[in-house]
Amino acid sequence: MDRPVAAVHLAVPVNRHPARWSAIPGVVIHRTRYLEQAIHPMMSPPCTRVEYTVFDLIEAAATFEEAYDWICRAIGRRRTTSARLREAMASRPRMRWRQDLELALGDTQDGVLSVIERRYAHGVERPHGLPVATRQARVWQGTGNRYLDNYYEGYRACVEIDGAAAHPADEQWRDKDRDRWNAVHEKIDTIRIGTVALRTPQAQCATAADVATWLSGRGPATGHPCARAGCPVPLLTPWP
Ligand SMILES: [Zn+2]
Repeated sequence: MDRPVAAVHLAVPVNRHPARWSAIPGVVIHRTRYLEQAIHPMMSPPCTRVEYTVFDLIEAAATFEEAYDWICRAIGRRRTTSARLREAMASRPRMRWRQDLELALGDTQDGVLSVIERRYAHGVERPHGLPVATRQARVWQGTGNRYLDNYYEGYRACVEIDGAAAHPADEQWRDKDRDRWNAVHEKIDTIRIGTVALRTPQAQCATAADVATWLSGRGPATGHPCARAGCPVPLLTPWP
């Protein structure tokens, strides 16, 4: 398939036979069951609303990482918002990677947050023998309390999990300010982990290898491979 940026993308109703269009060079056909809702009310010639375009591109994506990239681009360039994408997703009963997309869109419902936390605790920390972090540890930062997602007190180390990785760039300064404040005033260093790095067992193992190596460079050695074949975590502590 052509690179999506170089192609013209056409949305056609799902019940329309695609054979007539599929052979046009540089044209990518998206067959959608949501065309009525998808049409932008103002644009001429008719085009689909950004949210529907994003989800059509996600349906055509080869991997979740590619799908995730479309979300980050759409929000990062301020073409839409997480809330509008969540709303559009709710109206699509069929959606690939729904749970992972909800995580990427930063829905702050407890259920979604707990999925991310569970993946970190049960997929990264526990099977790799890493210490159990204090969750939502409170730190006073001059103007108010801040909460650290996963704080390893003995290591002065914090692992922040960016559920809403698709923040526009100008909202990310708060995270950067907070990380810098912790480093300067509390001697607490931070690494940030996106939801993609917690999605699959392989990704969780790779994340665990980074966290184990990072922590072990700051304090007592910690971490060992999990039971998964090919786990890249170095054997830094005795197997339990
Ligand atoms: Zn592992």
